[in-house]
Amino acid sequence: MPPQEEIILDYTEAAAIVLARAARLSQPSQAETVSVEKAAGRVLAASITADRNQPPFDRSTRDGYAVRSADLQVGERLKVVAQLRAGQPALTTSVGRGEAIEIMTGAPMPAGADAVLMVEHVDVLADGIRPHAGRSLKPGENIVPAGAEARTGGIIVPAGTRLRATHLGAAVSCGAAVVDVYRQPRIAILATGDELVEPGEMVKDFQIRNSNSYSLAVQVERAGGIPGRLPIARDTLEDLQRSLETATLSDLVLLSGGVSMGKFDFVEQVLTSRGAQFLFTGVRMQPGRPVVFGHLREQSKYFFGLPGNPVSTMVTFALFAAPLIRALGGETEPRPLFARAHIAAPFRHKPGLTRFLPASLSTDWDRADVMPIAWQGSGDLAATARANCFIVIPPDVQELTAGDDVSVLLVD
Ligand code: AMP
Ligand code: MG
Repeated sequence: MPPQEEIILDYTEAAAIVLARAARLSQPSQAETVSVEKAAGRVLAASITADRNQPPFDRSTRDGYAVRSADLQVGERLKVVAQLRAGQPALTTSVGRGEAIEIMTGAPMPAGADAVLMVEHVDVLADGIRPHAGRSLKPGENIVPAGAEARTGGIIVPAGTRLRATHLGAAVSCGAAVVDVYRQPRIAILATGDELVEPGEMVKDFQIRNSNSYSLAVQVERAGGIPGRLPIARDTLEDLQRSLETATLSDLVLLSGGVSMGKFDFVEQVLTSRGAQFLFTGVRMQPGRPVVFGHLREQSKYFFGLPGNPVSTMVTFALFAAPLIRALGGETEPRPLFARAHIAAPFRHKPGLTRFLPASLSTDWDRADVMPIAWQGSGDLAATARANCFIVIPPDVQELTAGDDVSVLLVD
């Protein structure tokens, strides 16, 4: 087998390739209908449109009194002629000059009134109300007009959206009890390595527990896929060939380990023998340098060869595999989530690589500080377990001082 030609890219180039491939995927061909209670995390296959105007009527946003705003300038008492609660049909009584109708938050505005005077802004008298001195109202104040939030037939949640609480709330508000969602892609997870043992098994001194298959399964689920963990493949051509056979029954193959320069790192060789087209065979990043992305033409499937070091596996999954899985699931916006923060400690490194440092982003609502966590490198899961994000250091940055702006990769 001729050795595969290396394609080593910068992180931004590699990410662009994955996203371009993700954008070219066609929508999943199969959809199913599920109840809204079961739809969280699924990807919408048909847009949700407003079945009526939102709000359906001019809605009071306050508890108070529906009035004519012009009446307030006079500063006189207003006669309260009726009471209106949310859930009551519109009144036949309308608000005339010098009159008010007591109204609750969420109730439809009565005819004649053009504003709501908050209950906190009046003195309640035996026969009416007196607005507090100097209190004025603009027409429309404390009212959301019918159709201001959405018009009948307008798209509320577009197809291709992964459904979170807000989307489900919006769907239900438009009358949906069930929604159409795409079938979830099946993702094969294949850990490779002679040293690996499964959890619960006896582990000898020289052996390592296969943690990657389990952390990857969680990440796959979070990306909207259905993980399929395969038995560990040993570092032989035959075993890898055999395992890959099963793995390619899925919609995407994730391999972990066996992509470095070691003597028994056979993954690329086996993929080459299966007619793989490699889109990259390494990325100038740390952790994650040996990450491989490619396409199996015969099966028309993508694969990732993720480096075996657990933090490398995790980071390269989040950056490259997650977007592709999300796109396979029909998501139209599959990019990872980055935010800006202030690094809380100085940092120096040799430029040339994009670095992803496990870090702790402040959970105080009014601070955006992020503190790198001391670690032993890309095998250090213990340190990474104390992190809630990764600081991104671009390849051209050599030195950062405390307080400098940085990007952080948010992971869940
Ligand atoms: P490799 O990418 O196969 O060269 O492996 C790099 C490092 O990651 C080695 O220390 C491996 O023991 C470790 N490793 C590989 N696969 C796994 C796995 N599935 N779970 C935990 N550690 C692994
Ligand atoms: Mg290995």
